[in-house]
Amino acid sequence: MNNVHNLLIIGSGPAGLTAAIYAARTELKPIVFEGDSPGGQLINTSFVENWPGNISILGAQLINNIKKHAKHFGTQSIHETITKVDFNKRPFTLWTNKNNEYKAKAIIVATGAGPKKLGCPGEKEYWGKGVTTCAICDGALYKDLPVVIIGGGDTAMEDASFMTRFTNQITIIHLLDKLTASPAMQKRVFNNPHIKIIYNSTVSEIRGNSEHITEIVITNQKTHEQTTIPTRALFLAIGIKPNTTFLNGALKLDNYGYIETFCPTTSTSVEGIFACGDAADYMYRQAITAAGSGCMAALDAQRYLETTE
Ligand SMILES: Cc1cc2nc3c(=O)[nH]c(=O)nc-3n(C[C@H](O)[C@H](O)[C@H](O)COP(=O)(O)OP(=O)(O)OC[C@H]3O[C@@H](n4cnc5c(N)ncnc54)[C@H](O)[C@@H]3O)c2cc1C
Repeated sequence: MNNVHNLLIIGSGPAGLTAAIYAARTELKPIVFEGDSPGGQLINTSFVENWPGNISILGAQLINNIKKHAKHFGTQSIHETITKVDFNKRPFTLWTNKNNEYKAKAIIVATGAGPKKLGCPGEKEYWGKGVTTCAICDGALYKDLPVVIIGGGDTAMEDASFMTRFTNQITIIHLLDKLTASPAMQKRVFNNPHIKIIYNSTVSEIRGNSEHITEIVITNQKTHEQTTIPTRALFLAIGIKPNTTFLNGALKLDNYGYIETFCPTTSTSVEGIFACGDAADYMYRQAITAAGSGCMAALDAQRYLETTE
C-alpha cells in the first residue's frame, strides 16, 4: 500500500487548489494534477474584481497566490492530465497522458469547464490560426483587422468591448434575435459605433489560406440565406462545457455533463470520490464558489478517510 496516496486532486483551478490547501493543512499530502491548463480558467482573464479581499487582481496573479499557498502547506503539483479512471475498485486508480498510474484512497474531481466549440468545417484546421476563445490573450494580434465574435452573452460582449482597443471592424454574430448578456454589458456594446451585431445567425464554415482565416460563412437561421464575411479572427464565446468526458461513465453526470453531487455535500455517485467547482456547478461558476466547494470537498474527503481508516 506504499504507493497508495491519501488524496489525489484532479484539476488546478480555484476549486482544486483550495481543496489542496485544506487537505495539505490536515497532512493528507495531496497531489494536484494540473491538466492541460494549469491554474484553470482564471489564467486567461485580466482583472478579477470580485475575489474577497482583493479589490482588483489579475487572474493569473490570483491563481499564483493560491498555488503558492497550497505549496506552502505541502501540496505537490504534477503537470499531467488524467485520461482514464477506475473508480470500481479500491484503491481508486488514475492514468495520465504520460502513461503514469496513481492510486488513492480518495479523489477530488475539480476539472472545471472549457469553451464550447462550433463543430463546423474549418474550425479544427484554423484553431490557433485565427479561431480562438481568448480575446484577452490573442486580441492584440489583430490590430486594425476585421474580427468576428460568436455569442450573445457576457463573454461575447466583454470580448467585443475589449477588441475595440485594437480594431474598429468588429462583428458579433448571435444565434438568437436578442442578446442574452446583462443589460450593462449590452449597453456598452450598443453604444460603441465600431461593433456591428448580426442576429439569428450561426457560422457554418471557416475558410482561409491555410496560414490563417480569411472569411467565414454564416447562415441565417430563419431564411437559411448564407453570407460570407471577411475576417482574420473568430472568437468563440458560445458558452462552456464541463471537463468530464475523461470520466467515461465512472461517475453519474447530469444531462449537460456536470457531475452530480449529493447536496449539501460534494459526494458523488461513488463513495470516496468528491466533486467541486465548475465541473459540478452549472449555476454559479465563479472563482469564489469554486474555491468554496473545493474547501467542502477537502473536508468531505477528510471525514471519509477518517471513517474508513
Ligand atoms: C474569461 C473568464 C473570465 C472570468 N472572470 C471571472 C471573475 O472575474 N470572477 C470570478 O469569480 N470568476 C470568473 N470566471 C469564472 C472562473 O474562472 C471559474 O468559475 C473558475 O475558474 C472555476 O474554477 P474550477 O477550479 O472549478 O475550474 P477551472 O478554473 O476551469 O480549472 C479546471 C482545472 O482542471 C484541469 N483539468 C481539466 N481536465 C483535467 C484532466 N482530465 N486531468 C487533469 N486536470 C484537468 C485544468 O487543467 C484546470 O487546471 C471567469 C471565467 C472566464 C472564462
